[in-house]
Amino acid sequence: MGKGDELLRQIRAEIDGLKPRAIEGNVGRVLAIGDGVARIGGLSQISLNEVVVFQDGSRGMALNLEDDSVGVVVLSEGSQIAVGEEVRAGGSLLSMPVGMGLLGRAVNAIGQPIDGRGEINATTSYPIDKVARGIVHRQSVSKPLQTGIMAIDSMIPIGRGQRELIIGDRSTGKTAIAIDTIINQARLNKLGIASGDKNFRPVYSIYVSIGQKRSDLARLLQLLESKGAMDYAVVVAGGASENAAGQYVAPYSATAIGEWFMDNGMDALIVYDDLSKHAVAYRQISLILKRPAGRQAYPGDIFYLHSRLLERAAKLHNDFGGGSLTALPIVETQAGDVAAYIPTNIISITDGQIYLDSELFNRGVRPAIATGISVSRVGSAAQIKAFRQVAGKIKLTLGQYYEMQSFAQFGSELDQRTRQLLDDGARIVELFKQDQLAPRSAALQIFLLWSVMGGHFGEIDVSETHGAVRHMEEWLLSMQQPLLEEIAAKGELNDKLEKKMLAAAEQWKKIHSHDRAQPSGTAKTC
Ligand code: ATP
Ligand code: MG
Repeated sequence: MGKGDELLRQIRAEIDGLKPRAIEGNVGRVLAIGDGVARIGGLSQISLNEVVVFQDGSRGMALNLEDDSVGVVVLSEGSQIAVGEEVRAGGSLLSMPVGMGLLGRAVNAIGQPIDGRGEINATTSYPIDKVARGIVHRQSVSKPLQTGIMAIDSMIPIGRGQRELIIGDRSTGKTAIAIDTIINQARLNKLGIASGDKNFRPVYSIYVSIGQKRSDLARLLQLLESKGAMDYAVVVAGGASENAAGQYVAPYSATAIGEWFMDNGMDALIVYDDLSKHAVAYRQISLILKRPAGRQAYPGDIFYLHSRLLERAAKLHNDFGGGSLTALPIVETQAGDVAAYIPTNIISITDGQIYLDSELFNRGVRPAIATGISVSRVGSAAQIKAFRQVAGKIKLTLGQYYEMQSFAQFGSELDQRTRQLLDDGARIVELFKQDQLAPRSAALQIFLLWSVMGGHFGEIDVSETHGAVRHMEEWLLSMQQPLLEEIAAKGELNDKLEKKMLAAAEQWKKIHSHDRAQPSGTAKTC
């Protein structure tokens, strides 16, 4: 073979490499369809997670690649797919519209609007599944994400970029905590933007509902709307009325929206409500696809799936824009069993958990946070210093209180020290009782904690503590704004500031005892 022949062979090989994919590999036929999963023959060139389009325009995603067929989950609602019809694969991975235009909108798992407000005005689109940012792109959390819920901000603080699990049985207030946090972000965003502070960074929220009833979702949207939270929020719905595919895909699509904020140097918060239902949806799809089932019939890669999802939350390094994505996944337990398969998986891939206890909830301790087993492993680094100054001892006091309480039930004689400990603990429990939709600013929380821990409620009966705290809150908000602003601005207590706080606390005590003596006064106790 001469040199010329060799060159010709090389050129031919290069031209062959440039030829488009054989068209027959991109067109297939539906072999079977049922339960939102289609089996397609003929798509020999398809890759995992690639989008396919059916004849009626419905879209699906390739999940199982087998020797002679492809398993596809159907993502469009109300699709009319028939056996034998043509299916095309376009070579693109499933993507989601992203950008500021999504704020205020409710979309389904593939980014189609479900709020009847017309087209989404998207900046661009992002693939729904992406490899999480590597360690060189990240930095540790340094800025708090205030939930407005005292028990959390003081004891289990969350930092921007953190993953904090909210876990508990049915109806223990899991969603309430997440929604309060979203509403608090909107409140803080409005204040921050109005202040004109150039360093202020708003937090945009994304709420993903998985397997919830349409009516519940509608109610939630209405609530967020009425609180002005939708100005800074997006709702992504993988509802119960849709097939399991929507529920399976929704968290990934929603994360893509969050990643866009993060990649553009902004802060975002994402709530997955909830990942137990997500696991069930994935199990259902996997069983239909005849994948081998593992523990509790969940497919073996469910752990990988959830860790890959939550890994996408991050606090980016300043060299990469300094944006962040904070994740609040929610998990439902059965009869408080945190050692079940899905809960243990997710506990191990988050930076802490807020555990809600149904017994506390039923006793009226709401939010029903079990302080003993709730932790935040990274958030304290981002906590405002004043919180650490006033709340340092709270967890310990509460722990001792719960322990002592079981002894005290026997009615034996208690020494003075034990009685004091029980009183202190009970006061803190009362202090942490907080209504829904009543977020408190950091400064207000710090003042209230400082007062209770400093013994300023010592003369008030434990059973009246909650009412007295509310009284103090109202008084501070109406009469002591400059002091609250000073606490917020300094972020740290010093002798001078504490003196002012002491003077305010003394003044409040007089007013409170006066109001108590005249219950018809302005004070509201409950
Ligand atoms: P599910 O398991 O059904 O998703 P959940 O754990 O998300 O329930 P929520 O729906 O948030 O719980 O709350 C359950 C009920 O408790 C609701 O009626 C809610 O209004 C009430 N609730 C939640 N938090 C509080 C609170 N801090 N104070 C008073 N009521 C509350
Ligand atoms: Mg809920």
